[in-house]
Amino acid sequence: MTDVLKLGDKKRELRQVVEQLVPDGNLGLCLTCGTCASGCPATGLMDLDPRKLIRMAVLGLDDELLKHPWVWVCTMCKRCQDACPMNINIPQLVYYLRSQWPREERPKGILNSCDHHVRSRGGAMGVSLDDFKFVVEDLSEEVREQPGFENLAAPIDKEGAMFALNQNSREPVTEPDELLPLWKILHTVGADWTYYSEMWAGENYCMFLADDKAWEEIIRAQAEHVDKLGCRYLVNTECGHSFYALWAGLQRFNIPHKFELVSIVNLYAQWIREGRLPVNSEWNKDLKIKFTVQDPCNPVRKSLGNYFADDLRFVVKSVVGPENFVELYPNRTNNFCCGGGGGTLQAPYKEERLAYGRKKADQIKATGAGYVAVPCHNCHAQIHELSEFYEGGWHVVHLWTIICLSLGILGENERTYLGPDLAEFGL
Ligand code: SF4
Ligand code: SF4
Ligand code: SF4
Repeated sequence: MTDVLKLGDKKRELRQVVEQLVPDGNLGLCLTCGTCASGCPATGLMDLDPRKLIRMAVLGLDDELLKHPWVWVCTMCKRCQDACPMNINIPQLVYYLRSQWPREERPKGILNSCDHHVRSRGGAMGVSLDDFKFVVEDLSEEVREQPGFENLAAPIDKEGAMFALNQNSREPVTEPDELLPLWKILHTVGADWTYYSEMWAGENYCMFLADDKAWEEIIRAQAEHVDKLGCRYLVNTECGHSFYALWAGLQRFNIPHKFELVSIVNLYAQWIREGRLPVNSEWNKDLKIKFTVQDPCNPVRKSLGNYFADDLRFVVKSVVGPENFVELYPNRTNNFCCGGGGGTLQAPYKEERLAYGRKKADQIKATGAGYVAVPCHNCHAQIHELSEFYEGGWHVVHLWTIICLSLGILGENERTYLGPDLAEFGL
């Protein structure tokens, strides 16, 4: 029999604090309808779900909530809040609960990534600026040997450049050849661009750690440096959470800046419309390889909405052919998170993360697509792992890979994520 819950000695401090911190966090408005839990892929993991989380906060079960590891399994994807009839901000409650864990007890992977980032003034992998510069210079020389790219430049700290780009440090550190397709695209459109040296990486594990101070330090340093260079746009490359960390961080910490924050996905679309990126889908006319897309929650549901989702589809359809594009259902702002968000890839709860991803795996399997195009690093890593774990057989590609494939400029070493059907195509 279920034990009767005794509430007399409960504190209920948490509820008051959250209600002060989060304007739309009025937990008392919860109707207990369960809509949030029905649509949340983390429901049932570790015996918790968003509705139960709210009930526990309302009932004052602060002690139980403040040490529950489920907050590191929830990806803060915001699907629950979008569905909630009372618009209760569950992700902010989760963020607050994370922030209440003693710092040294938070997941080591997320903690170390945050600390490496702040200490190195570069990125979460702790790579020094000199090493980043070395990789960029070395690769620039390599790519300049390819016909058509003899004049390609990949500068760092070029003053007055139109676009300042961040770059997820996974590329320079573990798969440097993945940098080249992006540079080739920028070269093809004649973009005036530069990397920036201070906090150059496009990731932010301090946000996942719920460490406001470090999150702000990273964003503020980036903003000041990009403004000092005089760049008109800060361009976030293919990474979802880094866009959100900048977009939300600039507002949350009230950081003054002169540049406009934009996503590379919207720029790809603009350059295709302007004819500067002459992609076409002829290459896939006979092959008829099917592609779908993952809408990353951070630039779609949590910030740019359909402006991003529409351009994402426009780019992929232009490259693979509309007849070879299949949607995941549900999609766009109603899409499911893949389970790799919120820092979960760096947290120790792998079993839960893969169970969370089951919905995504089922969605992809239902499309029959051979490829998932993904403009987000965390989605990329998780969906790749889901393909292996659930034996889905699909491949996961960055947009830069298929854009360059369509343009006939994808080099031999730039095909890590293509399947055997495309590994040598067009070489
Ligand atoms: S933010 Fe996402 S994972 Fe977390 S409770 Fe809401 S729907 Fe579930
Ligand atoms: S959807 Fe909103 S109102 Fe319904 S149970 Fe969840 S938090 Fe409460
Ligand atoms: S990993 Fe991708 S799908 Fe998941 S929360 Fe992050 S952006 Fe969203």
